[in-house]
Amino acid sequence: RRQVYLAERHLPFETRDRVSVRVMMNAGLLMDMGHLEDAGAMGVGLYRTELPFMTRPSLPDVATQTLLYQKIREQAGGKPVVFRTLDVGGDKLLPYWTNDGEDNPAMGWRSIRITLDRPAVLRAQIRALLRASAGQDLRLMFPMIATVQEFRQARRLLDVEVERERARGGLLPRQVRVGTMLEVPSLLYQFPELLPEVDFVSVGSNDLLQFLFATDRGNPRVSGRYDPLSVPVLRLLRDVRWLCEAAGKPVTVCGEMAGRPIEAMALIGLGYRSLSMAAQGVGPVKQMLRSMDTREVTAYVTALAESDDPNPRRGLRAFARD
Ligand code: PEP
Ligand code: MG
Repeated sequence: RRQVYLAERHLPFETRDRVSVRVMMNAGLLMDMGHLEDAGAMGVGLYRTELPFMTRPSLPDVATQTLLYQKIREQAGGKPVVFRTLDVGGDKLLPYWTNDGEDNPAMGWRSIRITLDRPAVLRAQIRALLRASAGQDLRLMFPMIATVQEFRQARRLLDVEVERERARGGLLPRQVRVGTMLEVPSLLYQFPELLPEVDFVSVGSNDLLQFLFATDRGNPRVSGRYDPLSVPVLRLLRDVRWLCEAAGKPVTVCGEMAGRPIEAMALIGLGYRSLSMAAQGVGPVKQMLRSMDTREVTAYVTALAESDDPNPRRGLRAFARD
């Protein structure tokens, strides 16, 4: 199968009825970037920046980070890369920041909460991203945003850093696009205030579903209990897509579900035209989407979202087989 995917990597990401889907890759290590070419992804829709922080004995300084982000950009060879700012805590612990004593680390001091409490860390990272993107387009997004105020606070730090670089005569990026991840359900109910202020939205379905169903994504006893292909999730994702479109803001799904063919098919049926996934998902998803007809899938999935089907996956599988 790998040979087949490799042979098909230059074919367009297009459905049978000629609808283009933007298929991107998730990455977190410099060596992941090599897959961009062989998987044939259109760019990196989620670059998880925390791994280099986790493998060092102390925080990497601005110069180290700048070099690293430059290398990532070079490896991307002009394809877009969406950098996500530091998302540690929860299950991603830094050796030099102990985070013990939390009963619920997934809901504890993690991600943007840490970097807003330690703004120097976020500012240093943003500074490095700005420098590594001098004269080019920079796309960055903030993880685990739960309130519009958190987004504004993070964005303000970006503005401060842009001004600082300008004042010292540094070459700035040509354009900076700033997005939010949607991982905490509360954010959905702040979309009217939030959407006008963001350039794009990226749905982190791993955390979003963990919080939606109140199930620990790392606990096998419960993590398989609720299916991402269930009616409440289909409705939620349908509404998210619709609200983003109404506000004119691009939306991508970058959680693991985007890289599974049946899930990806359902997402396309719900109107998503941009997905970002682990490199090994790109080939199978491409094969699926090149064999599907958007109109048929949309009609089927839209009806499913309106139904009270206890097991939409069964129907979607049969539909895909047909
Ligand atoms: C997510 O939560 O869906 C996501 C993409 O982020 P991570 O898996 O890194 O938490
Ligand atoms: Mg997440």
